Amino acid sequence: MDIKHRLHLTEKFPQIFPASAPSTNSPSLFECEDGWLDLIDGMCNLIQQRVDDGRSEQVVARQVKEKQGQLRFYYSGASGDLYLEGIVAMAGEMSFYTCEVCGGRGTFRNGGRFFRTRCDEHDGREQE
Ligand SMILES: [Zn+2]
Repeated sequence: MDIKHRLHLTEKFPQIFPASAPSTNSPSLFECEDGWLDLIDGMCNLIQQRVDDGRSEQVVARQVKEKQGQLRFYYSGASGDLYLEGIVAMAGEMSFYTCEVCGGRGTFRNGGRFFRTRCDEHDGREQE
């Protein structure tokens, strides 16, 4: 993911992506393309709102990544909070319909060696 998008997320959600966490400044914290930025942003918005409302303990991201064509969000804290698990599951489900490259309407595709979610224009692009 582009550095400006990573910075957008870490600056907007400093509690989910704390500067003290060892992996925050590592590109590997975000292992997906730019097209899922809004999905991640929206997911973090809902998570932080629940925390700020006092209904859940703070969540700290471990990794945000693409795996088998789907957005995955790994985190610590708030274990057993089904509402948060639902938010993460919904974002993962929506990623199956969102091109990972451009954020447009995408479909889940079998790319041969990899599964991926792409629009027609970006189908076939190799992952970096
Ligand atoms: Zn696309």
